[in-house]
Amino acid sequence: MSEIRRKIGIMGGTFDPIHIGHLVTAEAVRIEYSLDKVIFIPAANPPHKQELQVTPAIHRYIMTIMATYSNPYFYVSDIELARPGLSYTIDTVSHLVNQFGAQTDFYFITGADAIQDLPTWEKVDQLLEMCHFIAATRPGCISTLDNVIKHFGLQGRRRIHRLATPELEISSTDIRERVKTGRSIKYIVPESVESYIFKEGLYR
Ligand code: ATP
Ligand code: MG
Repeated sequence: MSEIRRKIGIMGGTFDPIHIGHLVTAEAVRIEYSLDKVIFIPAANPPHKQELQVTPAIHRYIMTIMATYSNPYFYVSDIELARPGLSYTIDTVSHLVNQFGAQTDFYFITGADAIQDLPTWEKVDQLLEMCHFIAATRPGCISTLDNVIKHFGLQGRRRIHRLATPELEISSTDIRERVKTGRSIKYIVPESVESYIFKEGLYR
């Protein structure tokens, strides 16, 4: 009898704030790869954003919960928030492998822009053995992704996959800028997130 393997998607990000680009991408990957669930993991202290001002984790965590709540397949984890120090993906994925056991396949969901510096990620060879990477194409990132796959040779071809999602030209940076300059963010973030941003006075 063949064992039944569980498939879990991991969507890491700063989520400052979470927006429909993240949600549409996670849902597309869930369907394409028949994932049992997708876990959103807000980063506490992203290594590549140390020099930037990031909104307190509690706000980003609450907005992520509100944005994902209506999808029965979406969950939010506080593992990176609960762990002191820098957040490395290898530590997060190791934690999940220990938690869910060997019968689980992990799919790390990322925008193609974020995957372009994968070669510099902490313990990346080990990481590629532990999970698949699904790179959602964002405008302008197609050829860069091919270079990343080539860089890792056979392991790259086995473990890094491309998924064309609607090319949403949306970023948290743009949303923060819109709030700051008084422009609308309606329909770019879920309504609950929009209300939260204004009620808490974020990004002004
Ligand atoms: P910022 O502008 O602050 O960098 P962001 O919009 O890129 O924010 P992050 O929290 O940095 O959001 O991204 C988390 C993950 O979601 C990354 O893997 C990123 O590539 C991906 N992502 C972000 N926006 C989109 C989008 N519009 N479509 C697909 N993937 C996206
Ligand atoms: Mg980003």
